[in-house]
Amino acid sequence: MQMSRLYAPTLKEDPREAELASHKLLLRAGMMRRGAVGLYSYLPLAWRSINKIEDIIRDEMEAIDAQEMQVPILTDGDLWHQSGRWNDYGPELMRLSDRYDHEYALGPTHEETFTDLVRNELRSYKQLPVTLYQMQDKFRDERRPRFGLMRSREFIMKDAYSFSATQESLQECYEQEKEAYAKICKRVGLRALPVVADSGQIGGDTSVEFMAIADAGEAALVYCDDCGFAADTEAATAAINLVDGEAGDLEKIATPGASTIEALAKFLNVPEAGTRKALALVDGDGKPVVCFVPGDHELNDVKAEHAFGSYHMMTEEELKEFGLVKGFMGPIGLPDGVRACYDVSLKESQWWAIGANEPGYHYVHAKPGRDFQIADSDWVDIITAREGDVCPKCGAPLKAARGIEVSQVFQLGTKYSASMGATFMDEDGVEKPLLMGCYGIGISRTLQAIVEQHHDEHGIIWPVSVAPYEVEVIPLDVHDDLVWPVADKVANQLLGLGVDVLVDDRKERPGVKFNDADLMGMPYQVVCGKKAIKNGNVELKNRATGERTEVAIDEVAALLAQKVEAQRA
Ligand code: ATP
Ligand code: MG
Repeated sequence: MQMSRLYAPTLKEDPREAELASHKLLLRAGMMRRGAVGLYSYLPLAWRSINKIEDIIRDEMEAIDAQEMQVPILTDGDLWHQSGRWNDYGPELMRLSDRYDHEYALGPTHEETFTDLVRNELRSYKQLPVTLYQMQDKFRDERRPRFGLMRSREFIMKDAYSFSATQESLQECYEQEKEAYAKICKRVGLRALPVVADSGQIGGDTSVEFMAIADAGEAALVYCDDCGFAADTEAATAAINLVDGEAGDLEKIATPGASTIEALAKFLNVPEAGTRKALALVDGDGKPVVCFVPGDHELNDVKAEHAFGSYHMMTEEELKEFGLVKGFMGPIGLPDGVRACYDVSLKESQWWAIGANEPGYHYVHAKPGRDFQIADSDWVDIITAREGDVCPKCGAPLKAARGIEVSQVFQLGTKYSASMGATFMDEDGVEKPLLMGCYGIGISRTLQAIVEQHHDEHGIIWPVSVAPYEVEVIPLDVHDDLVWPVADKVANQLLGLGVDVLVDDRKERPGVKFNDADLMGMPYQVVCGKKAIKNGNVELKNRATGERTEVAIDEVAALLAQKVEAQRA
């Protein structure tokens, strides 16, 4: 492809609509454009990458006998009524009606459609399992479309649905998709963590989200480099490095001014983890609760909602109203009617430093069971896991990261088949609902996540496997009769060897070409300049490392073909 003919309108300045580096770069490099809020066009360069991502997905699906097909984007409202999701889905579902007032929805996902498709055809256990998938635009009227392709209203998804006769078969389909998803992440160049989203009764996972590691990610994660454990901080039950107090008789001490954890830890000369933080809230029923958590941990909003319903932290007025002393709350001598709860991470703690419910006083050497009682029902899981906590699987220290959900695998069981009457005749002659799994990859979100992970201050750094073009040939002066023939020859040799080549044939200054090449981020640049050519060489630049080497004109194509082939994945 010749750059002079390429439709890739670059921008000099950072577009105002973009916050994330990846969003800015895709716009600046002329790879996409916004039509309206949450609606994007993929321009030719981005589309080439999308196609490569899709080919990698196809390859992995082929390997596990999942079959590609296509259903209509427009879905019949009747199906959504049958599954109950016409009401449950809420305003995210984009609804419309036809000229006869029949209702439809633009598919945000296609469980209903696929269940409907197979319910009259997959009738016997002998036909199972079957996995079907498609790659297609999805529509969701997101409350806050943002970050470009990360959260848009129309986006490309690969969605697969498996149909099984037995739980073992569903498990197998699920494991195969999960493995394929890990491979896909790797092959498109994403560093991603498989995070357990749901655990089944027997301890195995029934849903996993693949999270691409990126500071810009919406999810806060902890993970273990040693054993591969990864979890959302909202879901992880934190095992902490418990710091216990000293043994002794209960003692009330004056701690003037020590109303914060920092001040108290200093006063007692212990680490913050050695103190117990008291957090006062009003639970969903309007009842006062004081929660005790390790001094160095925070209350987790999502977990707290699980434990206390739609709670809120107490205001100054509410603290007064319930007779609580800010900064000096403790389990001993709490006002009547105030419930005390304790984070499960403190179960092994024997000796506590806690507020005395009196301004300027704390207790030390307070012992649960002796000085205050904790009922089983008052242990709650409410803190946010953090870096340095203990891996619940292997005990190694956890690391923290943020993640972008790029894909998810899910065991649905009979959720849709039961409500929609998709049954089959089992071996034992009994009619049973199909067991389903669903497996989604956000293809457009994946594209942007790749850029989020692979860029520098100059632009994008495409992994070879998904690069729009693998090599960019840059003749520094297209009019020079020494330079142009060499560039043309190298480009043709590369093409002949099956390499995707872009040639910057524009009559631009070298500086402009270099900047654009770095911005667009093809993995290799072949710079054809007069000086090197006179020595029989061209300059080869590796975009990722910045490394430049002189290579003989006659050897560069073969060398690049080899490099590219090795990284195609
Ligand atoms: P999120 O929690 O980010 O809203 P989700 O869990 O609702 O996503 P799924 O229903 O699991 O999304 O869809 C499968 C995949 O589709 C997601 O893993 C994600 O990569 C992608 N995806 C979902 N919503 C969007 C969106 N609004 N824009 C772009 N991609 C999306
Ligand atoms: Mg999801």
